[in-house]
Amino acid sequence: AKAAGRNNYQFFTQKMNLAAAHHFELESSLRSALALQQFELHFQPIMDIRTRHLHAMEVLLRWRRPGHGLVGPDQFIPIMEENGLIVPVGEWVIRRACEQNMEWLRQGLQPVPLAINLSPRQFMHRGLVASIRRILEETGIDPALIEFEITETAVMQHGEQTLEILGQINAMGIRLSIDDFGTGYSSLAYLKRFPVRKIKIDRAFIKDLEESTEDRAIVAAIIALSDSLQLSVVAEGVETEAQFGLLQRQGCQHAQGYLFSRPVPCAEAQHLLQGRAE
Ligand code: C2E
Ligand code: CA
Ligand code: CA
Ligand code: CA
Repeated sequence: AKAAGRNNYQFFTQKMNLAAAHHFELESSLRSALALQQFELHFQPIMDIRTRHLHAMEVLLRWRRPGHGLVGPDQFIPIMEENGLIVPVGEWVIRRACEQNMEWLRQGLQPVPLAINLSPRQFMHRGLVASIRRILEETGIDPALIEFEITETAVMQHGEQTLEILGQINAMGIRLSIDDFGTGYSSLAYLKRFPVRKIKIDRAFIKDLEESTEDRAIVAAIIALSDSLQLSVVAEGVETEAQFGLLQRQGCQHAQGYLFSRPVPCAEAQHLLQGRAE
């Protein structure tokens, strides 16, 4: 039994070493990924529920990691959030999104707002406002064509300081929305205090919309609240016509999800914009 125990232990430490080595490798490749131009932006349409026309697009980060294909943000954003890499990479995302949007305008496409995610760490970084200002200047983008998405958790973490940063971003003419609404603190008081224009209902409430009367009640309540505060609402993760129909009847304005399109690479996003109805 003792020998077996030791074998288990050895096996366990081997696995631990492997996991640690794996993490180390991941982290060091991430450190050079920006310089090696391995990041790219994908875009997912946000539709107007009433007209079914494209209303905006969310910008979603991808990592083209050699030997691993296209890696999704859940695999590396938590690590970058921990080691701080999210600050330069997040800044790159904002710049790249603004440049791309300017490029589409130059090609004569109809203007489209791009929604960019800001992580909590990025949000609390002291240089954020200055870097946004610099990007606006250098790219010449109309601030009305960008939106920032921040989560409730990021917003609630640092009360007054947060309010000040949100105020500065808002003063630049950039719209702010609350991402993953309903999953965080769910304190509704801040919605009134913060210069937020839009909330995004988390996919968790949309997933079982057809079966769950509770989820339907929650979504209806969020929409009613938003209406009374004059916020617009986006439902995330809309995958079926049935969900779409329910949201439409509940008066939700916007929807995003696989029903319309998965996040797509730049060239495909451009096609979507070219085929866009007036
Ligand atoms: P999020 O901001 O909540 O983004 C929506 C996620 O839901 C995206 O996953 C999108 O692909 C996925 N999604 C959209 N429609 C559907 C649907 O109908 N069904 C299902 N099952 N999923 C759907 P993705 O691209 O893997 O991104 C995951 C998260 O990574 C994002 O969640 C966001 O928190 C973060 N993220 C992505 N890009 C960035 C970035 O540039 N900066 C920061 N800080 N975070 C980012
Ligand atoms: Ca988002
Ligand atoms: Ca979300
Ligand atoms: Ca999410």
